[in-house]
Amino acid sequence: MSPPRPTLLLSVDFEDWHQLIRRRVGASNWREPGPALARETEALLDLFERLDVRATFFVLGMAARAHPQLVKPIVDRGHEIGCHGDAHLPVHTQTPAEFTADLRAARATIEELTGKTPVGYRAPAFSITRAADWAYGVLAQEGFAYDSSQHDSPAIRDRTVPARRAPHRLETGLWEFPVAVWRVRSARIPVGGASYWQLLPTRVLLRGLRNAGSVAGLYLHPYELDPEPLRAMLPADATATQHAHAKLRETQRNGARRRAPGALEAIARRFDLIPYGEAHARLGDGA
Ligand SMILES: [Zn+2]
Repeated sequence: MSPPRPTLLLSVDFEDWHQLIRRRVGASNWREPGPALARETEALLDLFERLDVRATFFVLGMAARAHPQLVKPIVDRGHEIGCHGDAHLPVHTQTPAEFTADLRAARATIEELTGKTPVGYRAPAFSITRAADWAYGVLAQEGFAYDSSQHDSPAIRDRTVPARRAPHRLETGLWEFPVAVWRVRSARIPVGGASYWQLLPTRVLLRGLRNAGSVAGLYLHPYELDPEPLRAMLPADATATQHAHAKLRETQRNGARRRAPGALEAIARRFDLIPYGEAHARLGDGA
């Protein structure tokens, strides 16, 4: 008899790459809906269907309002809706009152578009750092049941330490589901993020995921499934510096984009991929 397949949690940070890159470089058209999220969402939903997997989509409020027609089909095709906040600003730069307002704005948008109240949260860029651990109290007060913002990646400064490898309960009662990280001696390799998959051969990636802890989390972004190359398409008034900055990000992101579908397919052949809500429900059953 073959051993049981290990389980990983599958998620998407549902956001509009064009809005975020344009805001990052200071372009004037950043609030406008980007041109690619519809085709990226379709590609993601089709890939998940082909692999017969369901995921949690942590939806960003401002992206959902820019593309209101894209959110309900995610639920209709069997996926869970979580919350990625509203404006995609780091939690550690906000006050508790600002963070509460951001959560409520996102939740109102998600409820209006789907009729569902999200109970899971993921911070933009995993920004619930040590300086912002008050955010867990706010999430519990606001009715959230679980969080997935802890990511022991060397790229994140001032992160919560010591990091735990498995789902665990926080003092606030909230469950925390950490992102997959492969610890090799003193190194930490963030194997849970599709943006890192381009750096690793498939067999190394799979080995890393097998050693990343129990029920660890994976995260993708819609742009990583874009069937076409990413172009920031800045407005006519953009400066040479803005174009250069955007070009650099395009190059980085297009590398991840080419690699993500094949890597996910290889992962799905060897692991059971489930949404976060399903793992949370299993914990509730004492499983
Ligand atoms: Zn994000």
